[in-house]
Amino acid sequence: MGKPSATVLLDWYDRHARRLPWRVPPGHRRKPDPYRIWLSEVMLQQTTVVTVGPYFKSFLDRWPTVADLAAADLDAVLHAWAGLGYYARARNLHKCAIAVAGAHGGIFPDTEDGLRALPGIGPYTAAAIAAIAFDRPATVVDGNVERVMARLFAVEESLPSAKPNLHQLAAGLTPQSRPGDYAQAVMDLGAIVCTPRAPKCLMCPWQGDCRAQSLDIAESLPRRAPKAERPLRQGVVFWTVRSDGAVLLRRRPERGLLGGMIEVPSSDWGARAPADMAQAPVTAQWRELPGQVSHGFTHFQLELKVLAARVRKNAKAEGIWIMPDALGDHALPTLTKKIVRHALAHV
Ligand code: SF4
Repeated sequence: MGKPSATVLLDWYDRHARRLPWRVPPGHRRKPDPYRIWLSEVMLQQTTVVTVGPYFKSFLDRWPTVADLAAADLDAVLHAWAGLGYYARARNLHKCAIAVAGAHGGIFPDTEDGLRALPGIGPYTAAAIAAIAFDRPATVVDGNVERVMARLFAVEESLPSAKPNLHQLAAGLTPQSRPGDYAQAVMDLGAIVCTPRAPKCLMCPWQGDCRAQSLDIAESLPRRAPKAERPLRQGVVFWTVRSDGAVLLRRRPERGLLGGMIEVPSSDWGARAPADMAQAPVTAQWRELPGQVSHGFTHFQLELKVLAARVRKNAKAEGIWIMPDALGDHALPTLTKKIVRHALAHV
């Protein structure tokens, strides 16, 4: 069994490349726009091509260049980002646009090291931009590429501990010629041929060199270590309604989970919800609404009881009072939206 050939894969890519809004198709003479590649790569972290498509288009319509995005109001960027998750990424996106438009005169650095020095650009994104936008022979390894490498070389070690090995195997195949197209070709192969379930080995340009296929274990790779159970955290939120109908919201601290986002005031989140009202934003007659709000974060599961109270128009509380029909004007994270929906349905 020989070494899988980059040329064979590039021939396949020339015929079967996915058409993506941010991509310059193979054989096209137009150079990729680093702004588009960067924007798409940041959006694609932890979400799918299908989800990203409309967001990518609306960002480009509103902010066609990195300078436009840098000049945008942060709240407008966060609002446009709502639904893509992880608002820290949107904040870093804005910070990065400001850095490129300012210190770099509107031009993205064209090396992995230069890109990694920018806010919000980690090793994967730097490699992807260096390869796709600047045709550098960087090794780009996302989940698709990990799967293809694990199968090509029949790697039995489980993820995540197999990551360095898979990266090294991918680096060993990266060519000096057309590295940008090659990076996209491996990702496309993983996305449309070497799929997690039922890989289409008969259509695969690397079939003759694939160890997992010859051993008939392709679908069982890559192996994954069993997931640890996410711990449960609990808390209470305070749905405070003023006599004119406005509700009390506040901004979370800049650092930490959902940093700087708008929330319904809540207690701390711990192993148990607090039994007293010490963390309520205002003294009032609180009553518990039926049901609760559940939300999954990466590292824990959250359950919140919702307490509601009506207060006088001149009630003193820290935060911002917003009429419910104006909530759509603000960038609300998914958790806040769930709480608002729950409270409006039960009050
Ligand atoms: Fe994946 Fe099958 Fe191709 Fe191997 S032959 S890389 S398992 S699609």
